[in-house]
Amino acid sequence: MSIIFEKSIQGRLGVSLPKSDVPVRHVINSNYLRAEKAALPELSELDVVRHFTALSRMNYGVDTNFYPLGSCTMKYNPKVTEKIASMDGFASLHPLLPQLLRGGMLTQGALAVIYELEHLLSEITGMDAFSTHPMAGAHGELTGMMIVAAYHKSKGNKKTEVLIPDEAHGTNPSSASIAGFEVKSIPTTAEGALNVDALEAAISEKTAAIMLTNPNTLGLFNPYIEKIAAIAHKYDAQLYYDGANLNAILGKFRPADALFDVMHVNLHKTFATPHGGGGPGSGPVGVRKHLEKFLPVSRIAKRTDGTYALDYEHPESIGYIAPFYGNFSVCLKAYAYILQLGKQGLIDVSENAVLSANYVLHSLKDTYHVPYMKTCMHECVITAKNQGDQGIHALDIAKALIDRGFHPPTIYFPLIVKEAMMIEPTETESKETLDSFIAAMKEIAETSKTNPENIKNAPLTTPVGRLDETKAVKDMDFAFKG
Ligand SMILES: *Cc1c(COP(=O)(O)O)cnc(C)c1O
Repeated sequence: MSIIFEKSIQGRLGVSLPKSDVPVRHVINSNYLRAEKAALPELSELDVVRHFTALSRMNYGVDTNFYPLGSCTMKYNPKVTEKIASMDGFASLHPLLPQLLRGGMLTQGALAVIYELEHLLSEITGMDAFSTHPMAGAHGELTGMMIVAAYHKSKGNKKTEVLIPDEAHGTNPSSASIAGFEVKSIPTTAEGALNVDALEAAISEKTAAIMLTNPNTLGLFNPYIEKIAAIAHKYDAQLYYDGANLNAILGKFRPADALFDVMHVNLHKTFATPHGGGGPGSGPVGVRKHLEKFLPVSRIAKRTDGTYALDYEHPESIGYIAPFYGNFSVCLKAYAYILQLGKQGLIDVSENAVLSANYVLHSLKDTYHVPYMKTCMHECVITAKNQGDQGIHALDIAKALIDRGFHPPTIYFPLIVKEAMMIEPTETESKETLDSFIAAMKEIAETSKTNPENIKNAPLTTPVGRLDETKAVKDMDFAFKG
């Protein structure tokens, strides 16, 4: 498809209006006016509309089809929460509105939403306090690691290291390292859990924190969590919970009950907004009591008369980590989503997310190799090992899914599994959708034997086939023209 500049025909007009019969007055100083007209494309209105409509149809999103991208929780943009987020009283609220204007009444609604959301997250996770400031999961991790650093500093602890399992999401080691810690990787056992013996061997007085994702990126819940917490706390190391994919445990397991000290939640992914599919994210950080005084400012305080105020009086706070009050609209959507579902609804979320993932796993286990065959949580990991004899890799299967109308799962992650395909069906997909995905995966495995070239050359139905990714990055023009 050509770009709009290539479709331009000199002199063609999009809109023609009658010539103005009042004198033209330039508001801009003539020094700043262009000497020549900008070289913009010239097309009819209809051609412009068709150009952009055609482009939009080449896009793929949760609103067009199934999107089982593991670890990303691509479910949907509930229309009711979108509507609430676009209500004028919220959407037009200026972030600089002084909280005292008209007694702060203009901002009371927004402050109440954040205050109540923080308390709902506390109830869901068991943590004592939350801050909604962080603007992504990774940002929440960084905030959490800064809180850990502030805690150790306040106690005079000399801590330099953070221990992280080798299957962890890449943001974990990078957040710990940006916060100034050295990262030590802890191996995973053959049953797919953190190796407790290796952890005991690695931990020392230098350990500031252990970062865990539970269920981990293999989709497996760690059965030794109490033991791990005891080991961590023996050394005053803080136990960090990566709660990016909370849809596995809602109403079933509260990280604070397992003595996790600090955590983040991805409001995008778990509560409405899909990862990357709805624009900005939000990664609130929750802590237990002993870490509360280190949370970022401002905090939201409820006055005795029931009104809300921004509270900056926290001398031991790590300070500001984001402008204003986080990504407010994502918080608002999460708040509305939690209220819409209620307690039982949130429990249903987890049960359905886990059921869907196990359904996919069991339906595919005889066709694809399964590295850890046990009950999974919200996502499952299979591999392309069985297809290796035909020279087929996870990448080929991912591309073949595009030809069959599906977004590929996450591939080559977790890094510790060769030829990994990590599938997260989520709680929102119907059995019919899952069945059609399973059928496509089985057909791809069959075609890998009978006509492997079809899979190796996929995608065959898209405007652009396999890209030379290195060249595409180096030379944008190539990416556009295919
Ligand atoms: C998505 C994810 C993150 C990072 O969240 P972002 O919002 O993308 O920064 C961290 N950990 C896990 C396990 C994740 O799935």
